[in-house]
Amino acid sequence: MTAPVNKTPSAKKKSTFKCPDCGSACRVTNSKIFGNTYKEFNASCTSDKCGGRYVFGSEPVRILTPSQTPNPMIDLPMHDHSGQNQNPKEV
Ligand SMILES: [Zn+2]
Repeated sequence: MTAPVNKTPSAKKKSTFKCPDCGSACRVTNSKIFGNTYKEFNASCTSDKCGGRYVFGSEPVRILTPSQTPNPMIDLPMHDHSGQNQNPKEV
């Protein structure tokens, strides 16, 4: 199963990364996929005063709802729906 690669940067999405130094939004300039699930993003802070550039990492950590077409190469734990260990806050 190969996921379609969406290369169109037309959709202006709000950045999901915040500058760790000044807290401004970071603009993703490049991304790389490592292995099956881990992805890294090069991102630049949008604040002119800051000018920081960072590498952010992103990967799925738990399964909320199992896929109908699971990838046998990945092994993720199920999310604990029992209410213990709740996420502190949905952003
Ligand atoms: Zn910054």
